[in-house]
Amino acid sequence: MKSAEIHVLTDEIINKIAAGEVIERPASAVKELIENSIDAGATRIQVQIEQGGKKKILVADNGKGMGKEDLNLCYLRHTTSKLKSADDLFHLQTNGFRGEAVASIAAISKMTISTATEDGDGGRLVLKGGNIEDEQAYTGGHGTTFLIEDLFFNTPVRRTFLGSETSEGTKILDVVLKTAIAHPEIRFDYKVGDKAVFIGVPGELRTRLAEAIGSSIAKNLLPVDYTEAGVHVSGYISPTTETNGKRHHQFLFLRKRPIESKVIAKAVSQAYEPYGAQCKPVTVLFLDMPDQDFDVNVHPAKREVRFANQNLVFLVVNHAIRDTFQKDLEANSPFIDLSAEMAKPDVNDAPVPQYNFAPPASAAPVYKTQEPRLGNDISEKNKTKSYSVADDVQDLFSQPEAGKIISLEPGQGNVPEQKPEPAPWTPPTLFQIADTYIAGEDAEGLLIIDQHAAHSRILYERALATLENGADLDSQELLFPELIEFSKLEKQVFASVDPQLRKLGFFVEHFGGDTFQIRAIPSALPLSRAIKAVHQFLDSCAGSGEADPKQITDTIAKAWSKTNAYQAGDKLKPEEMAQLMGQLMSTEDPLKSPYGAPTLMRITLDELAKKFKH
Ligand code: ADP
Ligand code: MG
Repeated sequence: MKSAEIHVLTDEIINKIAAGEVIERPASAVKELIENSIDAGATRIQVQIEQGGKKKILVADNGKGMGKEDLNLCYLRHTTSKLKSADDLFHLQTNGFRGEAVASIAAISKMTISTATEDGDGGRLVLKGGNIEDEQAYTGGHGTTFLIEDLFFNTPVRRTFLGSETSEGTKILDVVLKTAIAHPEIRFDYKVGDKAVFIGVPGELRTRLAEAIGSSIAKNLLPVDYTEAGVHVSGYISPTTETNGKRHHQFLFLRKRPIESKVIAKAVSQAYEPYGAQCKPVTVLFLDMPDQDFDVNVHPAKREVRFANQNLVFLVVNHAIRDTFQKDLEANSPFIDLSAEMAKPDVNDAPVPQYNFAPPASAAPVYKTQEPRLGNDISEKNKTKSYSVADDVQDLFSQPEAGKIISLEPGQGNVPEQKPEPAPWTPPTLFQIADTYIAGEDAEGLLIIDQHAAHSRILYERALATLENGADLDSQELLFPELIEFSKLEKQVFASVDPQLRKLGFFVEHFGGDTFQIRAIPSALPLSRAIKAVHQFLDSCAGSGEADPKQITDTIAKAWSKTNAYQAGDKLKPEEMAQLMGQLMSTEDPLKSPYGAPTLMRITLDELAKKFKH
């Protein structure tokens, strides 16, 4: 008798078919894994691929991690921690909720999941084609690492449909960049093989755009911030004069999720149309609107979105762009020049030129700097900052080696006759000396900046701010734990401050006798500094009777800034120099590096005149 031709498919086959729908190519796997990391609250995401993701994809995060029980569920189909009722489907808060990404990827690859929660619950699972091959203990810091090897190894047909290594790699980069732009607050590291291809340092959106699409493009973008009829549009767009971007420089997000929408693409192109038919503007737009006004097609591969009222969305986006052009026009109108803003009565009577550290002879020692527009959020543009630097200045510049040529106190009566007119601000022309110093002219004379010291100051304050905000301190597990000897006193102190150390990203364990091992250190800290930092921390605790995390925070911030700042010998682009100047001026203590070295010196016109014996 002929056996029945219809039979129930095995789970394995069902998984493989489903996997094909969800995971079309390596980039889809990367996208799903990164989204899971974001959903897990990661502040740092590392992605590494080999051979266009076909051989290897690694996505590591410092999110909340999974306990053993969740680990053993996450790779099964229709398991999710994100959707509890059907109603949740209509309130998209997280990226995923179908509970099939991990299962799909697992079904068609060799997958190793290493994960741990803050409480140390976790484990490591090695799967092949969705079946457990090995189970191990895992004791890393909280977070999850997915290692995907040989994607599509058991679906050879699909494998042959993949593009070249380069084309698959490009698609992955696209995914990484889109996500990174949607989340400038998250640190991203993307490597192809051993080569770092993209690094996104947590910061403002414009800075992230500079990292993602280039600072020369980013610096000229206009900020969008517009609300109409409950639809909010924000982001950055090309000015009408610079619209030679590339097609793929159009980014669109709805609630921070990348989407595609023909309606919006049309609204954009129509707004630019009057400025040239061939217009290819850079547009980075974030939309938000009430839940009931849109419907995201939950098919993970493509996020085409449908709006309840297409015409309305078209109009609002169109208006948002025109409104931005209009504001730009007004800001650049000769009748409303920047000098008007600079002359705001709160500081001085006279307008203060940009980068002016020298107080006008009559003024109180309160200085005002204004961030240059370059490389900064326009919303920040008009922010003014007052600080008193007179004392610092005196100390700093009375140091013997600097004292000869520097005076920040314009000599009474020696001020050159023709004090420059307080003109509307124009960026000073800056140039590099020996790829180490930046020189430029300002109203008072010549300014010379030590690029390393200045950049260190900027990064140091940023790092401090991040740390002091209680932001997660990224921890990095050491491949080879570092042994460290504690004194008796240190040993005693350690017992009581271990929890604080962990919060700071240090994971130190007793090894035997007076020896301890450092198993993880804050990512921002080079290993060489980490040991010193632990000793310092313990000493400071012993000294004060209680833990002083401030000191260690400071050590970390200093070390971080020093290693990440421009070094002497780094060639800087004009826009990088301008950005550095601007950022330096808006730091708390622009005159000193975190280590107390001067960041800049000035040769005043007066001093020049003296030198030349006028
Ligand atoms: P979904 O994201 O739709 O819930 P997935 O298959 O992508 O489904 O993931 C299944 C579950 O695995 C998630 O709901 C989450 O609980 C867990 N998970 C996946 N990736 C991570 C991660 N990086 N960190 C913590 N938990 C994760
Ligand atoms: Mg998911």
